[in-house]
Amino acid sequence: MGRMVAAGIGRRTRLARWIDPPADASGYRVTIACAASHAGQVSGLEPALRSTSPQGAEDAPVGQQVHSWILRRGGGQSMCRAAEAMNYRISRRAAALSPSLTLAIDAKAKQLKAQGEDVVGFGAGEPDFDTPQHIKDAAARALAEGFTKYTPSSGIPELRQAIAEKFRRDNGLSYKPSQIIVSCGGKHSCYNVILATCQEGDEVIIPAPYWVSYPEMVKLAGATPVIVETSDQTEFKVTPDQLRAAITPHTRLFILNSPSNPTGTVYSPEEIKALGDVCVEKGVLIMSDEIYEHLVYDGAVHRSVASFSQAHYQHTIITHGFAKAWSMTGWRLGFLAAPEPIAQAIDAIQSHSTSNPTSFAQKGAVAALTGPQDHLKEWLAEFDRRRRYAHQRLNSMPGIACVNARGAFYLFPNIAKLGLSSTEFCARLLEEEKVAAVPGIAFGADQYIRISYATSMANLEKGLDRLERFVRRLAG
Ligand code: PMP
Repeated sequence: MGRMVAAGIGRRTRLARWIDPPADASGYRVTIACAASHAGQVSGLEPALRSTSPQGAEDAPVGQQVHSWILRRGGGQSMCRAAEAMNYRISRRAAALSPSLTLAIDAKAKQLKAQGEDVVGFGAGEPDFDTPQHIKDAAARALAEGFTKYTPSSGIPELRQAIAEKFRRDNGLSYKPSQIIVSCGGKHSCYNVILATCQEGDEVIIPAPYWVSYPEMVKLAGATPVIVETSDQTEFKVTPDQLRAAITPHTRLFILNSPSNPTGTVYSPEEIKALGDVCVEKGVLIMSDEIYEHLVYDGAVHRSVASFSQAHYQHTIITHGFAKAWSMTGWRLGFLAAPEPIAQAIDAIQSHSTSNPTSFAQKGAVAALTGPQDHLKEWLAEFDRRRRYAHQRLNSMPGIACVNARGAFYLFPNIAKLGLSSTEFCARLLEEEKVAAVPGIAFGADQYIRISYATSMANLEKGLDRLERFVRRLAG
């Protein structure tokens, strides 16, 4: 392992690894891991490093390439010496990660807005509706009553009971409260599952386009993501044959996410069952991320893979959360349901890492599950109206083709005909038209961009007008 120096990719500063002097002893070799799409873009190395030149690539983590430069002797040396003195060695686990591009785009759009720019954000992964009042009231009441201390690390019994009841009511699934773990967000629930079940040598099958965090979580656990490609030709659905072909003796987990982020795809119950059948037959666990369960349109039906048979149930861990259907993104509350031994392992992990999710937020979550659900009907009607509008507008733009998604609040149009990588496309769209969308490369699919319609109709109209102008310019 080498030492770390700061280097820039575009406007982001990264830590690069520098190792031994190259053969001609003219400087130091600097390596940096970055998204494949950044190849050739690593220009902004610190001033001291300006006289660098690319020196080829090495083996790289999925979705990344590692590039090497020779750092010429000169100003750079003092910087290297300073870095060497500090020894900011970053662990292999952390160094292999790419920061979340979706959060980065969101932050960039918010920053431009704060500077007074008229930015339209299509990047958000959160509903634009407020948390329903009765949920806020319940949390406020708990806070006022002094419910401010540690709770059991896997959640208050009342909430775990309410979640078990939710699974019975909505999914026909029977879980004991001890099989339910409440965590600090659906993201945390997913990470807990992967950490509890996967280790070095294990493979995790992830259909692409995938939610941006899955492969990174797998890498954090020391396991290897195995990406199975899908396209808009099959509505981004992985087939049982594809799944079977990807399974090896090392396969530990298959990640299923329906309704999907980023594509909005909803698998039919038959399709879900067929994928579950393959996992049961091969002894592969399934992490079924059902966080968008309630956000379905056009009569699409969500069915949990755990619900088809006792064997399916025994192979499945469901992850879920309060962010989407109750608009509680900032509350940081998620949950999971797992076979008892896995739930116990996650309980132990959580007890040593985060401890309990916020005490009074949990009281709000009880109200979310046990109180009225009227808000959902209204939200769904509004999301559906926007979805239809955006889908029709996107398909009327030259060079863009968009399958209509039946779930979540995303559309995933194909931009391949316009001749730009998804990163270039989104960077220029933000620069030239002040519209923030997320490049498909973040989800392992460079021919697409993600449009979130979790924004007002007025914003949607304005943003799509601008996108159309941009696309017409590109299409010439
Ligand atoms: N899973 C998927 C597929 C998601 O899109 C998200 C949020 N973007 C999450 C999990 C996590 O949500 P949170 O941590 O906010 O509950």
